[in-house]
Amino acid sequence: MKIEAVMFAVIASFALAAALASVACASDGVFTMKVGGFEVSMLSEVQRKGGLDILIGASSSDVERFIPDGEYPNAVAVYMIRSADGVVLVDTGYGTALERNMESLGVRPEDVKDILITHSHGDHIGGLLKEEERAFPNARIHVSKAEYEWSPSMRDALDKYGGDVNMIGPGTLDDGAEVLPGVRAIAAYGHTPGHTMFMLESKGERLLFWGDLTHAMAIQMPRPGVSVRYDSDPVKAAEVRKSVLEYVSRNKIPAAGAHIAYPGVGDISADQENPGGYRFTPKN
Ligand SMILES: [Zn+2]
Repeated sequence: MKIEAVMFAVIASFALAAALASVACASDGVFTMKVGGFEVSMLSEVQRKGGLDILIGASSSDVERFIPDGEYPNAVAVYMIRSADGVVLVDTGYGTALERNMESLGVRPEDVKDILITHSHGDHIGGLLKEEERAFPNARIHVSKAEYEWSPSMRDALDKYGGDVNMIGPGTLDDGAEVLPGVRAIAAYGHTPGHTMFMLESKGERLLFWGDLTHAMAIQMPRPGVSVRYDSDPVKAAEVRKSVLEYVSRNKIPAAGAHIAYPGVGDISADQENPGGYRFTPKN
């Protein structure tokens, strides 16, 4: 083969590999379901394994029982809510795969009208900015006042984003403050001092976006008392986790979490064989 032909073959095979990779991402990285009149999509930033080093309060026998391989499925996900009223994002992930995932569903950054922020960690607000510029030109940001006041990185990101911020005072699970039609904000302080969940409700159906209530589903479902190093207040985080799991299992409310592996959404039920523990059944 001539050198040009070799080069062409190499370039062509790279192009094919890249095309296949993007096809794989488009199908593996997005999961869509209906919640009443809304369409909710999980947009995966990354699917990966988590380590034991981040766990707080896990006994060695529980680790052996629930995480026998020494690692567990973990992810970073953004959620997108679509309705006739427009496009809403719950968090923005790192901002790595977000735009591509949105594009695969025919949504452009300028279509996003509102962004609900669960908290200020980089894997949730990283996508607000693109090269230090506002990534969503028409979107209003909703964030809890407590998180804004606590977090310098939240304030810095919003300064760069350029105003257009709605400070929210989240309510309780039974009585959350309405932020947008069909969306209520619920305080779940513990992971961070302003960590906020969002309850979507439409036509009798509900879905709770619980942000970082969990990071290691494999052990935090059977043992909700286990916290992680990223929890600002591990004790409070565990208390909140237990009360939210009790509430969603009793009321049969499915949940979506930023660190739940694909599809990122599922049903929670009390585990009858393991009092105080829960089971997670992913949607399909
Ligand atoms: Zn997180």
